[in-house]
Amino acid sequence: MMSIDSKIAVFLGAPGVGKGTQAALVAQQMQMSHLSSGDLFRQAVERGDELGKQVKAIMESGALVPDEITTQMVLDRLSQSSSARGVILDGFPRNIVQAESLDKALTEKQGRKVDVAVCIDVAQEELIRRLSLRWLCRKCQTPYNRDAEDVTPLVCEKCGGELYQRADDAPDTVLKRLQVYFAATMPLIEYYKQCGILIEVDGGGSVESITARIVLAMGGSR
Ligand code: AMP
Repeated sequence: MMSIDSKIAVFLGAPGVGKGTQAALVAQQMQMSHLSSGDLFRQAVERGDELGKQVKAIMESGALVPDEITTQMVLDRLSQSSSARGVILDGFPRNIVQAESLDKALTEKQGRKVDVAVCIDVAQEELIRRLSLRWLCRKCQTPYNRDAEDVTPLVCEKCGGELYQRADDAPDTVLKRLQVYFAATMPLIEYYKQCGILIEVDGGGSVESITARIVLAMGGSR
């Protein structure tokens, strides 16, 4: 159970805006936990456990995993989170039904709601370009940007893990994921605006400058 002065933050944005990268960096700087639904699913697929088997094909198609499975997985993790400064939810909620389930669970269990929703904005052409260059560490999920001509070794600078490209970053699947984002996830921007907790952040510029913008907007100091 988290303390009263901890924050629950939701990070929103289309695939490729740098949401995962920023969620990890902001969590580090603000000493919050980082909970990524996509990472949890990818880890389950890597392990090949029951959950992994259930979600593998769905993820590879670019569609959303059913709400029931996703919400249960995230709420279980959230209840185990013990960070005094709170948690950043990255990739969850992904639609209105999930957002309502999250609010309901927080209200019932802790008498609270989401404190802040951060939406990162990037132009659509830029999203597709970024996703095609994205590589991830198989072990620690750190993302890297690299061109096909890049000759540096394909290992993670942090943990030495193997780098790979996500199957769902293939061009056809990227388009599907963008469609899913515009249809299912974009309405969350209005949802959190109505709640009076939406912060919109320009996702252009260097990684560090975007992190600084988000930390400042969330009321943290650098
Ligand atoms: P991400 O790493 O956030 O891009 O997520 C990768 C994939 O995991 C998505 O395309 C979905 O198939 C699945 N996924 C992650 N988060 C959710 C969610 N909140 N609801 C449903 N499916 C999700």
